[in-house]
Amino acid sequence: MPLRPEDRPGQPGLLGRAARFTAATARWLGAGAPLRSQQGRLAALETCAACEKNQDGWCSECGCWIKLKTAYATESCPLGKWGAEKREGRGCGGCG
Ligand code: SF4
Repeated sequence: MPLRPEDRPGQPGLLGRAARFTAATARWLGAGAPLRSQQGRLAALETCAACEKNQDGWCSECGCWIKLKTAYATESCPLGKWGAEKREGRGCGGCG
């Protein structure tokens, strides 16, 4: 049976991951919730797939869930393997 992320060596515990997720989501929302381009996300996912820090879809360096981390344009790899992407936030799209 695979280990839960919080039980793996080097992984932040559940509270640590929740705090990092909250901080990442706050940054993302504060920037207008910009999503990474499909091309940029695929490139980041390919890099993570080949990275020794990828533990079943979780980054052991930052403790983030890679599928979500690569969707936020505001996030970047903690080891500098890929960066944030400059994109406009989506806003509400209607109320001006
Ligand atoms: S975010 Fe960076 S360190 Fe983490 S798995 Fe992806 S490439 Fe590796």
